[in-house]
Amino acid sequence: MSEPVIQLSAVTKRYAGGVTALRDVDLTVGHGELIAIVGPSGSGKSTMLHLIGTLDRPSAGTVRIDGHDVSRLSDRQLSALRARRIGFVFQSFHLAPGRDAIANVADGLLYMGVPRKERERRAEAALVRVGLGDRLRHRPDQLSGGERQRVAVARAVAGDPAVLLADEPTGNLDSHAGAGVVDLLRELNAAGTTVLVITHDHEIAASLPRQVPMRDGQVV
Ligand code: ADP
Repeated sequence: MSEPVIQLSAVTKRYAGGVTALRDVDLTVGHGELIAIVGPSGSGKSTMLHLIGTLDRPSAGTVRIDGHDVSRLSDRQLSALRARRIGFVFQSFHLAPGRDAIANVADGLLYMGVPRKERERRAEAALVRVGLGDRLRHRPDQLSGGERQRVAVARAVAGDPAVLLADEPTGNLDSHAGAGVVDLLRELNAAGTTVLVITHDHEIAASLPRQVPMRDGQVV
């Protein structure tokens, strides 16, 4: 395996209220991997993805992303790391309703400090890449579920992140649209992006090169 892009060492996450969502988790992910995170509801999958995405910090243990120990970074440095190196896709798309596809994708580049014209150029390129070159000016309510998720994927990859994190990206899609989104993740992975996908879908999980099974806050 090449130099790890993600490394969790003895990571524990306790939430306020006393829930221990992750216990002593070790996980190493190399550049260019494509991974399914699987396990029952409540097993800690989203918590682990949040920690990898630097949206939250561990209660104990070390999270290293792209060689950076997350606990040693200020909030500002962490935001910069997240904006430049990590893309997110969620089950419910999280698109701005009144904004067209270009604007939704371009807005994702705001935090990288990209000028407006360049944001729009990159947004268009990302939308073409996900197969939506003919839907640039459509708003979310004018798109199918599968197309909305493609816009969300375009937004996640427009900044050319090292890591793409997807939390149940097919959860709101029919099986055909879901398969299309998984194929798209595969293509992005083949082009060099490291991809981690949480999925309940056993067929999808089995079709990916590596599975990380979770249970009761641990990788099993
Ligand atoms: P999964 O993604 O596998 O369904 P989660 O990571 O969402 O699991 O949740 C793991 C456990 O942590 C669950 O028991 C859940 O109720 C709890 N949990 C998740 N988020 C929070 C939170 N923000 N505050 C308190 N408890 C939480």
